[in-house]
Amino acid sequence: MDQKYKALILEDNEVDASLLKKYLNRSTVKYKVECVSTGSDFEKKVRSFKPDVIITDYRMKDYSGHDALKFRNKHCSNIPFVIVSGHIGEEKAAKLIKEGATDFLMKNNTEASLSTTILRVINEFQERERSRRFEESAMRNHVLLETISKQADLPVWIRDQDGKFYYVNNQFRKIFNLDDDIQIIGKTNTELLDEKIAAQFDENDKRVLEEKKSILIEEKVITSQGVKYYQTNLFPITELPGLDFAVGGLAVDITSQKKSEIELQKALIEIGQTYERFEKVTEATNDAIWDWDLENDTLLWGGGFKTLFGYDVERVTPSLNTWTEHIHEDDQVRVLSSLYATVEDSEQSNWQSEYKYLRKDGSYAYVIDRAIIIRDEQGKASRVIGAMTDITYHHKYEENLQNLNTLLQEYTRELEVSNTELEHFAYVASHDLQEPLRMITSFMELLKTKYGEELDEKAHQYIYYALDGAKRMRELILDLLDFSRVGKSEDDKEWLNLNETVDFVCQMQQKIIKEKNAAIEIEDLPEIYSYRSPIIQIFQNLIGNALKYSKEGVDSIIHISSSELDEEWQFVVKDNGIGIDPDYFEKIFIIFQRLHTNHEYDGSGIGLTIVKKIIENLNGRIWVESKKGEGSTFFFTIPKSE
Ligand code: ADP
Repeated sequence: MDQKYKALILEDNEVDASLLKKYLNRSTVKYKVECVSTGSDFEKKVRSFKPDVIITDYRMKDYSGHDALKFRNKHCSNIPFVIVSGHIGEEKAAKLIKEGATDFLMKNNTEASLSTTILRVINEFQERERSRRFEESAMRNHVLLETISKQADLPVWIRDQDGKFYYVNNQFRKIFNLDDDIQIIGKTNTELLDEKIAAQFDENDKRVLEEKKSILIEEKVITSQGVKYYQTNLFPITELPGLDFAVGGLAVDITSQKKSEIELQKALIEIGQTYERFEKVTEATNDAIWDWDLENDTLLWGGGFKTLFGYDVERVTPSLNTWTEHIHEDDQVRVLSSLYATVEDSEQSNWQSEYKYLRKDGSYAYVIDRAIIIRDEQGKASRVIGAMTDITYHHKYEENLQNLNTLLQEYTRELEVSNTELEHFAYVASHDLQEPLRMITSFMELLKTKYGEELDEKAHQYIYYALDGAKRMRELILDLLDFSRVGKSEDDKEWLNLNETVDFVCQMQQKIIKEKNAAIEIEDLPEIYSYRSPIIQIFQNLIGNALKYSKEGVDSIIHISSSELDEEWQFVVKDNGIGIDPDYFEKIFIIFQRLHTNHEYDGSGIGLTIVKKIIENLNGRIWVESKKGEGSTFFFTIPKSE
């Protein structure tokens, strides 16, 4: 056997000492033996030699076995102490044992029992020492575990492979409301905890048992203080005495982190929803919507940037610069300075500007950009949300309108000029032309009276023609004057009972009505709010024509009626006269256009032109329906509100 124990012998009798040494060396176990004979040597040797056993005589000259025992008790009680002595009496021996000696041997018995006794006490002591150390370290570990877990405020536990608790700390007890008086050790999860939690813990343990390595899990646990989140570390333990395998665990409370994580996630989803809403809004409008976050200096672009200006919103990451760069250089300074001035003025909440904005194709769009400024409590702007509306079309429209307006103004001016000229002509016609006409007429009359008898029939005929021409010319001039005066009436509007108006016209035409043996049928006519003279002129002309263009040998019947439409009155003057070829429906309304010669029917071809001009001045319309030989029907309308 290799094992070598160290034995220290204290014996002042050399013979006895060598005997003891001899007996020890006989043993199957090897000993390294040192012998001392004095107390001081003994005390020194104990320290330097560090024996596994002390063997000592009891009675010595200046140092007794009792002294040695006291020394040993004081300095190295972990070394077995065996007294070998002559007879000292049982009482004494028992007292020494009581004081700490490990064993007592009678000198005469040493040969037979020394080596076995020594080996036994060494083994006993070593075993005792081992278990003492183990207990001490177990206690130390326990205290350490308690202290650390308490300090770290972590629940710590150990369960054996059958799921029975081997260890739990106070934190664990607290979490599950397990009072101190509740016995935990030796019980299972199911016996102590809520059914669900127990199942959850058993499942966790099972994983460690199967995988035989530590695992880190994040779990939701229903505790006595409500739902908590833990990061749990479960690990296999194989070194525990009396247990083949156990599962240790400790858990860190991550509830607050987890909750803020959940809040963050919720916030992200909200942000997401806001962005989605932003997207929806931008989809719903044709405007290009932008959202400028001043704090982070980020700009969000809506889909409108693609539809309006052609930019690929998904690809471009816009910044304020991207937007600025696209503003026409003529507008840039104005637009930006007004935007910044508004943003910096804490009183302002709206901004608006019109400018030209570059499209992707290189052309410029006219836009009106309207924005609202969102401010914090101190009035500092944090966000600006704007919408750009493409007003290129309006702009072009406005431009066109302006051009048209200019053109119209020119036309109006030209018209005014020609009107003035016409008025001037009318003046000249009424005065200046009348004068030579009157001269022609009077000289012709003079010629007729003074030289009538000397002139032959032919000359008389010529004079007649000349007088007739002058007469017609006078009529023409007067008609023309009438025409030029249309719309120049200075009368005010008044309520006109058209039954009375038409009666009045018929009175004026009394003579010709009788001649033509005409019947004038008038249906009940309305009251209208209009100008008296022009309305009389309309009926006078139409009734006059109906009488004039009657059929030979047929009594003329003239029917006058009206009907009320939504916004206007419609009037009808119908005759049974000669009718009009539809080819000439338009021609008859043109000045001086006649379908007959003066021999057939008297007239200047201006009557209908005047009627049309009056009606159109009143914002009405006039048209005719007829067939040659079957009478004519003239229709005209006059708006009610005019
Ligand atoms: P005028 O009667 O002096 O010739 P108007 O301008 O009044 O001039 O009429 C133009 C032409 O329309 C007439 O010459 C005539 O041929 C035709 N016309 C007008 N009214 C009638 C009618 N009621 N029946 C047939 N023809 C008509």
